[in-house]
Amino acid sequence: MNFDFTQQDKKLFKDINDIMTGLAGERTLEEKDSLSAEFLVREALERLANSFYLKLGIVKDEDIPGLCAMMGAMEIVSSFSPSLFLSVEMSTRLFGRIICTFGNEEQEKKWLSPVLRGKKLGAVALSEKTMNIDNDPMATTGVRENGFIKISGAKNFVINGPIADFTAVAGIIENKPAIFIVEKGLKGLIPGKRLETIGLDGAVISGLILDNCQVNEDQVIGPFEDRSLFSTLKIWENQIIIGSSLGMMKSSFESARAYAKAHKTGGKPVIAYQEVGFKLAEMLTLFQTSQLFAYRAVCAAEGKNRDAEVLTYCAKVFCTEAAEKVSGWALQILSGEGYISGNPAERAFRCAKYNQIAGTSTEISRVKIGDAAIGA
Ligand SMILES: Cc1cc2nc3c(=O)[nH]c(=O)nc-3n(C[C@H](O)[C@H](O)[C@H](O)COP(=O)(O)OP(=O)(O)OC[C@H]3O[C@@H](n4cnc5c(N)ncnc54)[C@H](O)[C@@H]3O)c2cc1C
Repeated sequence: MNFDFTQQDKKLFKDINDIMTGLAGERTLEEKDSLSAEFLVREALERLANSFYLKLGIVKDEDIPGLCAMMGAMEIVSSFSPSLFLSVEMSTRLFGRIICTFGNEEQEKKWLSPVLRGKKLGAVALSEKTMNIDNDPMATTGVRENGFIKISGAKNFVINGPIADFTAVAGIIENKPAIFIVEKGLKGLIPGKRLETIGLDGAVISGLILDNCQVNEDQVIGPFEDRSLFSTLKIWENQIIIGSSLGMMKSSFESARAYAKAHKTGGKPVIAYQEVGFKLAEMLTLFQTSQLFAYRAVCAAEGKNRDAEVLTYCAKVFCTEAAEKVSGWALQILSGEGYISGNPAERAFRCAKYNQIAGTSTEISRVKIGDAAIGA
């Protein structure tokens, strides 16, 4: 295992950092208004398409850095904006990876290529009111009728739901799991009202109703013989959430450190108080341990190691809980200034909980780690 980044990886990180800095300008990159949020994510995709970012983990080419670099790159984008990061990731690293891994050449041409060029936005709709990626039963169903497939169901929370050009919808056809690709404007495809959330202010999230949506045979990926498709999606989604947590720790730590050095209280900089220094030390230790864990998990996934899935659960639990702690301590150091909204620590603190809920939840991850520990 070698976690040293190559010159090529470092160039990628610099390119991404430059793109995100340029995109941010004077903005916070967390647009609350839906139209502005959509405009921003489309602008971000177009700009990121000028680097290898959108292709990481998707396109296999010797010029394109591997999964460790993907994790480092995710950390950078998430540190600028957790909301924008998730909107971009659901389009590329989840929607794009589904098409690239399970789709055929025609499907790649139609849906993957525009997504990787940053021209179109994707979304992935798995969860329903009474199920998520880890829990059956899924109610969304496709029925073959006169050469078409008619899909009916309701998805609960979908990032990019109301704005995506293409959505990969998980469902059942002939009692087997499948993915249906639906396009914006399809008759019977009804996005719900934008949902208000504690954090992720800049992500446009809604439910999605599919009321007898009619699609062609080439809009079905699968059906699959078993649920192993969902195990793969879980690893990918958990990798995104791990990357998101690293970015939150980076931005929180950096803002607390800068404040502790610059801000004076009681006649000296805050950093001079030993307890503040200890907090920063604890934060940096958790952040760096999380990075190592994250790289180890993607390294195992890249090598297709047998323990890649359980390592991903372990890393997800560790990194997401660390992100909540680090952002909370950052907020404590920033104190009154931090509690006034509009800084990276308070933003990360509000977003961090999502990472423990989404993908494979902390509780389900622990059950799976426990099962693996006893060899079940
Ligand atoms: C802001 C936001 C955006 C989202 N975006 C998307 C998206 O784009 N696409 C998408 O498909 N989904 C999305 N989701 C859904 C998300 O993936 C689910 O919320 C998550 O998987 C948890 O499922 P649930 O909310 O149904 O909780 P539930 O399954 O109802 O869980 C409730 C509690 O029970 C625990 N629990 C459940 N099952 C088990 C078990 N088997 N063992 C132990 N404990 C268990 C859970 O850990 C949790 O603590 C989003 C959610 C949010 C909040």
